[in-house]
Amino acid sequence: SKAEGRGRFRFFEQEMDEQMQARRAIELDLRRALALKEFELAYQPQVDLATQDVVGFEALLRWRNAARGLVSPAEFIPVAEETGLIVAIGEWVLRTACRDAASWPEPISVGVNLSPLQFRSPTLAQTVLSALANSGLAPERLELEITENALIEDTDAVIALLNRLRDVGVRVSMDDFGTGYSSLAYLQKFPFDRLKIDQSFVRGMGENPEAGAIVRAVAALGASLGMKTTAEGVETEEQLAAIRLEGCTHVQGYFTGRPMAAADASALLTQPRRV
Ligand code: C2E
Ligand code: CA
Ligand code: CA
Ligand code: CA
Repeated sequence: SKAEGRGRFRFFEQEMDEQMQARRAIELDLRRALALKEFELAYQPQVDLATQDVVGFEALLRWRNAARGLVSPAEFIPVAEETGLIVAIGEWVLRTACRDAASWPEPISVGVNLSPLQFRSPTLAQTVLSALANSGLAPERLELEITENALIEDTDAVIALLNRLRDVGVRVSMDDFGTGYSSLAYLQKFPFDRLKIDQSFVRGMGENPEAGAIVRAVAALGASLGMKTTAEGVETEEQLAAIRLEGCTHVQGYFTGRPMAAADASALLTQPRRV
């Protein structure tokens, strides 16, 4: 009935309202988080399948808030992007990750996620160069992880920026490869150092043969383009065996190591673990 429809609509409106208020509350807390030093980085090991050594870590942002507890990036990064706060937060991530990585033995690398919005900021190149200079980290040990969303707008400008960073030695990875609309088109525009195969394909491998075929095809594509290929989200021994078989060069997932505190990452490097 009409009344019922209106009721449902009112309910929907109220729910939207609550969602907006929740976002607004996150935004307010997020604005204070940098000053209050509420952010931390967790580091997840990346393993070379040829040598079975840990060769790098991905820096993953964590927000520890007194009232909220540990907030997942899936919850606050979208808000940080909408409000533009991600630019300042991302700068903190870059500087902190470079400083931490500079204390690791060479040539262990660090992967840093960059949000599309950071590419709109005219100071990104300067921020990366100054994070490297201040930490003393060799540019070759920094891997910027970008999704194709960063390339959708202003493709030429973003590629010029990436080339500038690549010229000084910084590495660039394409993250969540295979989930976007035109990942392949970007491969001929920029020589990525690494393709990170999205975990949805790895997860699908046990259930359907198509997922395995996709992982194999991306591994082969990477190999023929001279790019490394990292399988993400490997949780089991079976998945590890499968991605090894499909020809990926690297693995990053819970099975070979969960995201850990910086001190634990350092400790892990003094006693290299084998998989
Ligand atoms: P991502 O860049 O694809 O990072 C990988 C995510 O998969 C991480 O989630 C990691 O903890 C999780 N993961 C790794 N191995 C496994 C596994 O075996 N199983 C499962 N189920 N998950 C696994 P996390 O830390 O929650 O980060 C989520 C996303 O938030 C990241 O996805 C990235 O898009 C974004 N993010 C994290 N840190 C930053 C940052 O510093 N800046 C920006 N812009 N985005 C970030
Ligand atoms: Ca990533
Ligand atoms: Ca990813
Ligand atoms: Ca992702």
